[in-house]
This record gives sequence, structure tokens and C-alpha cells, in this order.
Amino acid sequence: MYLFDADSVVVSTAAELLRVHQPVMAGGPYCGSCGELAPCPVAANAQQIQDAAQLAAEQ
Ligand SMILES: [Zn+2]
Repeated sequence: MYLFDADSVVVSTAAELLRVHQPVMAGGPYCGSCGELAPCPVAANAQQIQDAAQLAAEQ
């Protein structure tokens, strides 16, 4: 099933969000960008998009 083109702006935006929304320290409890408990909702959504894009790329 086609989900996201790996080159689409949706995927590149998700990659950028995922890069920014990480704990301040490795394994830290809170997102360094929005302060939510890590993985924050933004990172979780971005990860889902990346996973979907990867699945699409494998087909
Ligand atoms: Zn965040």
C-alpha cells in the first residue's frame, strides 16, 4: 500500500521534526523542544510518518 513518497515534503518535514523533538540528553525524560514527556506527540507522529515512508519505499 502506498503511503508516503520518501521524497515528499511531508516526509522531510517529519524528519526535521523528529530531529528537533528529542530529549535534551540521550535517554532524558523530556523533549528538549516542546517539554512534553519523551517521546512527545510531535516526535511520535513524525516517527509514524517515517515508518510509513519506509514501508512505502520497500515496496
Ligand atoms: Zn517535542
